[in-house]
Amino acid sequence: MNLDISSNCAIHTDKEIEYFCKDHKTVCCVKCSIIDHRSCSELVDLKTNENSALEEDPRDFIEMLRRIEEFLMNHMQTNKNNIKRLERRTNEIVSTIKNAREKGNKLFNVIENYVEEKGRQLCKEESIKLNDLNQECQCVSNRTANQDATDQL
Ligand SMILES: [Zn+2]
Ligand SMILES: [Zn+2]
Repeated sequence: MNLDISSNCAIHTDKEIEYFCKDHKTVCCVKCSIIDHRSCSELVDLKTNENSALEEDPRDFIEMLRRIEEFLMNHMQTNKNNIKRLERRTNEIVSTIKNAREKGNKLFNVIENYVEEKGRQLCKEESIKLNDLNQECQCVSNRTANQDATDQL
């Protein structure tokens, strides 16, 4: 029997599940085995299966498999929850970016309108000034022409 379930401990996430404790009827990692199952009567090593006592009683063996399956199902549920959390977080970030973009767009619209309005107004004012100047020049040149005419008389 070699049960490499290659799943990590729910508490010590950096440690792989390595043992099954017969007393607690649960799977655990090496850290758990030291902390929680030090005084337990029997830990089945799932990787090397040095302890084959469980195989002597099929009911024990089936019980162990059932517990391992339960653990893996829970583990899967945790992973599913993590994926859901990740999805939610992704949606939050995307909507934050969308909001920021909308705010940015609004700001750019305001700036664009301001620049456009101011620019148009400046152009208008400048062209009025230019017109005035033109008219003034016209007046001066008319006056000069008149003066020339008077002088020639
Ligand atoms: Zn552990
Ligand atoms: Zn135990």
